[in-house]
Amino acid sequence: MCGVTGVFAPGRDAARLAFFALYALQHRGQESAGIAAADGTALRSHKAMGLLGAIFDEVILADLSGHIAIGHTRYSTSGSSIVVNAQPLLERSDLGDFAFAHNGNLTNTEELRERLSPSTVLEASSDSEVLAKLLVEDSGSLIDRIAHLLTVARGAYSVVLCTSNALYAFRDPWGVRPLALGELEDGGWIVASESCALGTVGARFVREIEPGEILRIGAEGIESRQAALSGHEHALCMFEYIYFARPDSEFDGRSVYMARYAMGRALAKEHPVEADVVIAVPDSAVPAGIGYAAESGLPYIEGLIKNRYIGRTFISPDQQMRSRGVQLKFNPLIENLRGQRVIVVDDSIVRGTTTPRIVSLLRDAGAREVHLRISSPPIRHPCYLGVDMATYDELIAANLNAEEIRRHTGADSLGYLSLEALIEATGRKREEMCLGCLTGAYPSVPVHAVS
Ligand code: 5GP
Ligand code: MG
Repeated sequence: MCGVTGVFAPGRDAARLAFFALYALQHRGQESAGIAAADGTALRSHKAMGLLGAIFDEVILADLSGHIAIGHTRYSTSGSSIVVNAQPLLERSDLGDFAFAHNGNLTNTEELRERLSPSTVLEASSDSEVLAKLLVEDSGSLIDRIAHLLTVARGAYSVVLCTSNALYAFRDPWGVRPLALGELEDGGWIVASESCALGTVGARFVREIEPGEILRIGAEGIESRQAALSGHEHALCMFEYIYFARPDSEFDGRSVYMARYAMGRALAKEHPVEADVVIAVPDSAVPAGIGYAAESGLPYIEGLIKNRYIGRTFISPDQQMRSRGVQLKFNPLIENLRGQRVIVVDDSIVRGTTTPRIVSLLRDAGAREVHLRISSPPIRHPCYLGVDMATYDELIAANLNAEEIRRHTGADSLGYLSLEALIEATGRKREEMCLGCLTGAYPSVPVHAVS
């Protein structure tokens, strides 16, 4: 995962706008962040490890002058968590310097690497650098090179790129990762991974960038080109709906909040149980929890208070830290839980580390019964397209059945949302989504495992 943004705002400080847009995308990655800005002649950038607020200050932003900027916030899924892998990447080319930022994972990195000249030195270990270098080594205009790239690169890539005088944005032909276009109040443009970032900077949501579409925004205006591709299914990642995207973002004209609310309602229909209260594991499961309560007629209350400053528990890709993270993250509201039969809604069980801890927190707080309801089907297959679950070994549902998982979590009962109900809640067509982690059927991409 990652968050990307690109700004073209004549007369304005684009890096500052990119900073605030990235702030709205911080949930998409907390390992490193960076911004590159261009003023028509020069390109400057700053990136570092850590959260956005710790990386940028007034002095650094003031240095990133110009009306064009791109930004990136990183959650590593390919390449290690070190600063050379932070983005934007800066590249020199015969067309001038450009900065490049990527969200997604490629599935044919090795094959693409072989297309590069043998003398090319790769500094980073990420697949993103291979994409950028392919643009450097190609010929023709930048937009032609991008169009060519779209025909050879497989997998997930929502990319923003800026030269000293133009902004480019493009999305892989499957549209696996989201990318939205917005118009700034006084005429400029912004693209961002999720539409929630547009409102933050006072921009109006215009539309999603289409799968396989390339945008070029320069002094002459905005130009769109659809790469010449045929027979590609659209395959927006279902996990964006389940967990990753912010609830105030929208895909296909429907907010992620409403989709999750509908998942919760459907979950209550599929897995009713006698209980006193409904709670959700904050923040990601709250809309589904509210939906479950509405459908069941039971009161929705708060049972767990989250420390908002801990960040997502997956921050550290090491399992020991991950398990400790849960205790740091939630405190139970004892008065709300004591003696109650509690339905606890969460959005997903991935590795099975979080849930047993949640169940025991609730029991320790005096809950009489704990009924676990999950607003997605079991995650049984790895993701090769950018979500941090790359192997069968780490996925609990790849290895245990539902009853074994219930026992592992310590809950009195466990119910997962069905795939059909999940799809219906998104309002999208089944064939327009990537359901790989749920079904093992990936979009029509010959997929090579990345790790
Ligand atoms: P697990 O079963 O892996 O221990 O954790 C499941 C919990 O982690 C759920 O509460 C879900 O909201 C959250 N989760 C699911 N996928 C991700 C992810 O990719 N990153 C982070 N940070 N949390 C995730
Ligand atoms: Mg969660």
